[in-house]
Amino acid sequence: MHLDQLIYEGKAKDVYQTNDEEVLRMVYKNQATALNGKRKEEILGKGLLNHQISDIIFSYLMANGIKTHFIENVSKTEQLVKRVEMIPIEVVLRNTIAGSFARKFDQVEGTKLTVPVIEYYYKNDALDDPGINESQIFALNFATKIEMDEIKKQVLQINQLLYKLFKDINIDLIDFKLEFGRYHGELILADEFSPDNARLWDSKTHKSLDKDIFRKKQGSIIPVYQDVLNRLKNRNEAI
Ligand code: UDP
Repeated sequence: MHLDQLIYEGKAKDVYQTNDEEVLRMVYKNQATALNGKRKEEILGKGLLNHQISDIIFSYLMANGIKTHFIENVSKTEQLVKRVEMIPIEVVLRNTIAGSFARKFDQVEGTKLTVPVIEYYYKNDALDDPGINESQIFALNFATKIEMDEIKKQVLQINQLLYKLFKDINIDLIDFKLEFGRYHGELILADEFSPDNARLWDSKTHKSLDKDIFRKKQGSIIPVYQDVLNRLKNRNEAI
């Protein structure tokens, strides 16, 4: 039984306040959503898989000098994280054309971009997370110039690290979404990294190993997420 107070109920995670003012408990849920939450389904085992995948990714990033909100795991679907002041921006990085970018510019999915593209979206479900640019971010005081420069630097660095990590396990990192928070005057990586918020394509077959399976109703995501987890675990064991 959880006595902690629920302070945020998200689509894929719930967040509880703990006795320690500076520490939150994040619980990964089995819910999958598409169309910004308009389509919802309970998928048994998803929370467990995303927690484990995100854990391996965050540990790898931390081992490579990236600061994150992660403190420790408390169960298979729960972790303790630092309480941060979230920046209300979803930061998307794209290596290869897919999804909304392909639709918006009428481009062929799967085309590698000559340089990574960074995009920002304002986190607001009621508005369907509209795209936002830096000048709008500054004018609305969502983040400062110094913070956005730091975010860009970190996202590019994270991309380099993750691109390499996934390449090792025969996965092409197509695109992904990150969120950052302020912690004692520093910007740190928060939220999660899982196949729910990244496009991961098998390097050989180019098949999706991510939430596109759910978005496009191509079957169960569980075996696919499990495959990503197994590859990450095997890599960890091999090194
Ligand atoms: N993404 C996300 N949350 C969102 C929107 C996008 O995690 O609310 C991720 C998505 O999984 C993909 C990347 O950001 O890895 C780029 O998504 P895109 O803009 O192509 O949108 P989509 O085609 O998913 O609507």
